[in-house]
Amino acid sequence: MSYIAWFEAHAKKHRKIVDKLLACGMDKEAIIKYFEFENMAEKEGDFCPLYAEGKKCHDTEYLNCYLCACPNFRFSDEGIETNGGKTKYSFCAIDSKEGALATYGDAIHQDCSRCTVPHAKRYVEEHFDLDWKRMMQACVVATRKASEC
Ligand code: SF4
Repeated sequence: MSYIAWFEAHAKKHRKIVDKLLACGMDKEAIIKYFEFENMAEKEGDFCPLYAEGKKCHDTEYLNCYLCACPNFRFSDEGIETNGGKTKYSFCAIDSKEGALATYGDAIHQDCSRCTVPHAKRYVEEHFDLDWKRMMQACVVATRKASEC
């Protein structure tokens, strides 16, 4: 699946759940609580494929799914830049020390597997918005292939 296909599909799933919770009268605090891993795995099985396995994406006690993927993630399916025959398709905007760039053949992608930044309760509270796409609006970056600059 391309980055943008995942992004659009996830936005719809997030919207549907948030709309349901708002219709139930939930406020920000209750919505954040609802999006905690244990509750989401029990009630929203379609939101993440890992729920079916009861597995967290990160080995951490508290894990909130509201800001999955991460507002700091940047991607372009066409490639952001090309250097030395390799094309970078994603990166971390804050260069988190827990994140890393990983190379797969000629492709470079951001590896967030060791970073829990967007899953912390305080981070979710600070960046909370009912509109997932608004929180993630900077994630989709324009293509800037070095060969075209
Ligand atoms: S490394 Fe961490 S902060 Fe950076 S994009 Fe990945 S999850 Fe977000």
